[in-house]
Amino acid sequence: MSLPGIRALTDPDRRENYDFSHYSDHLVIAQVLAQLNIKVTVYPLNPVSDDRHAWAAHHQAMHDEMNKALQTAGRDLSDGVFGHEWVNNNYMEHVAVHQVLGI
Ligand SMILES: [Zn+2]
Repeated sequence: MSLPGIRALTDPDRRENYDFSHYSDHLVIAQVLAQLNIKVTVYPLNPVSDDRHAWAAHHQAMHDEMNKALQTAGRDLSDGVFGHEWVNNNYMEHVAVHQVLGI
């Protein structure tokens, strides 16, 4: 289960674990949406690109697509700064999507 792995970035030295869980959760969501005949673009989010702007734009695009498809609330996550607030906001959007999809 990938969702618990993105609840918090508890150990910045283990950042790769967070990134893997985060991307895995996006893949799970995309697969479930595909089963509902909702096609969303999957961008390569893991490993996180050195080009933070490109990564943040791709990640925002994935959130925008899933939020639009499911009519879930979205926030601006495009700054790509992985502080506590960003991690929490990202997590809350993933949780909302899971709830709507029943996964
Ligand atoms: Zn995300």
